[in-house]
Amino acid sequence: MRKRLVAGNWKMHKTPSEARPWFQSLVDNLPQTEAEPALLLPFTHLPYAAQVLGNRVAYGAQDVSTHPEGAYTGEVSARMLADLGCRYTIVGHSERRSYHAETDALVAEKAQRLLEQAIVPILCVGEPLEVREAGGHVDYTLRQLEGSLKGVNPPSPAHLVIAYEPVWAIGTGKTATPEDAEAMHKAIRDWLEGRYGAAFAQGVRILYGGSVKPDNAPALFAQPNVDGGLVGGASLKLSDYLQLLTA
Ligand code: 13P
Repeated sequence: MRKRLVAGNWKMHKTPSEARPWFQSLVDNLPQTEAEPALLLPFTHLPYAAQVLGNRVAYGAQDVSTHPEGAYTGEVSARMLADLGCRYTIVGHSERRSYHAETDALVAEKAQRLLEQAIVPILCVGEPLEVREAGGHVDYTLRQLEGSLKGVNPPSPAHLVIAYEPVWAIGTGKTATPEDAEAMHKAIRDWLEGRYGAAFAQGVRILYGGSVKPDNAPALFAQPNVDGGLVGGASLKLSDYLQLLTA
């Protein structure tokens, strides 16, 4: 049984001092639910996350350096994230792939750095609109997955999370239908089976991301291969995020 993961990606929102009381309210209002909450935060917010969220709510970063350590001005290493108690960290988000020209090979290196520090990569894949319209979305997404997992060998299925985020659904208010999401998630799981074996593939959580809101989450999360969500906008509002945890 895969435990549902409801991961909020805050992107570049809120300041650390705005985040701190928000974290406290989340901890104070955490619902009784089987779903696992997690917040993926700007680096600056992580010390407060460590203090306030502690081990009640998992947290992590939205990116990591490909380098373990050294003269890399502006970079943040996986070891630094591990030291702050990060359980998860996003790699390969479409915003980094497009605004920072991140390639599949680079994303794979980042995933490896995280695994070396026992941090679980949340690896994002997903097609742009023109690819979906031309019908090439499954091939495109699986190719991205293959490149982004090249040489990446997580020690167990709990050490890998995949997020399917169709680019056309991110921040647009358009979501994949539950059926379209399920079809892609199934294709991803089948691919994982070929790469890592059946038992491993069955254990990996595959999240859907792209305009997940309290009103559309129940139908998406009810799909057999949708194991939760990677949520942008709706994770910034406490009442919305709390609803998603019990969707
Ligand atoms: P939205 O939920 O704001 O569409 O963002 C999705 C996303 O990119 C999460 O990583």
